[in-house]
Amino acid sequence: MLKIAVQKSGRLSEGSIQLLKDTGLQFNNGRKQLLATASNFPVEILYLRDDDIPQYVQDGVADLGIVGENTLMETGKSVKVIRQLGFSKCRLSLAIPKADHYSGPEYFAGKRIATSYVNILQDFLTSNDLTAEIHPISGSVEIAPGIGLADAVMDIVSTGSTLLSNGLKEVEVVTKSEAVLIAHKAISDEKQKILDQLAFRINAVLTARGYKYILLNAPNDKIDEIIAVLPGMKSPTVLPLADKGWSSVHSVVEEKQLWEVIDKLKMKGAQGLLIIPIEKMVV
Ligand code: ATP
Ligand code: MG
Repeated sequence: MLKIAVQKSGRLSEGSIQLLKDTGLQFNNGRKQLLATASNFPVEILYLRDDDIPQYVQDGVADLGIVGENTLMETGKSVKVIRQLGFSKCRLSLAIPKADHYSGPEYFAGKRIATSYVNILQDFLTSNDLTAEIHPISGSVEIAPGIGLADAVMDIVSTGSTLLSNGLKEVEVVTKSEAVLIAHKAISDEKQKILDQLAFRINAVLTARGYKYILLNAPNDKIDEIIAVLPGMKSPTVLPLADKGWSSVHSVVEEKQLWEVIDKLKMKGAQGLLIIPIEKMVV
């Protein structure tokens, strides 16, 4: 039985639970309980505070965990990072009062900086040869300058609107973060086998999220030009339609390029385009 620690409720929870469900695991969400057992795979899910996850995985109380890179970095625990998971993306940034002029990191020399990430901030200061006063706060960091508790903050930013509404501007991105899958460093052979299986499934789900399946109809004399537009995994599938002189073309397109490709396909004479999500993809 492999134990996986995920955040009980917060900005990592939905993405973590959705990912595990997309790999085919069936289990109850952790609204009430702290532990759920999957009914169709040898896995148990532990619902925890995110700050505790690195410690649990380091100690082997949990074999795997899903946590933000920011939290992992801050706690400095020794675990194996299996892979990035592509959700809960954010950055850890320094912000100062909107009206202040910012010329560079030396701005922070001798300043009082409020943050929940004392270690990451200290590393930033050290690597810039700066000394500043760090004020550890566990939440609502962005209000610290407004109430006179600090001159600046280092906090999580995703859009920057919270900073702006507190009269602050982002001036330095200290580090970027997303959810990562972590594992205990000395996992047993038996557990490693389950982990390999799960990691294979997670890879298939995450790869699929970056692509769409595309179907279209086109007159046969346009097929060559249309194929040239499709990046595809290998060569696209071309099937004849009942209507003579027409074919159906199927291919896989990277989500990033999707709209650009659709525009080109339409220009080349494609009709009846269908774009379909891919559930799993093994390459
Ligand atoms: P807990 O109660 O479990 O300790 P928390 O309040 O510490 O939760 P959350 O606010 O739920 O933490 O954030 C969890 C993680 O999600 C953060 O450590 C970060 O990696 C990521 N995160 C935080 N804010 C955002 C955001 N606005 N957009 C995307 N990801 C975010
Ligand atoms: Mg937390």
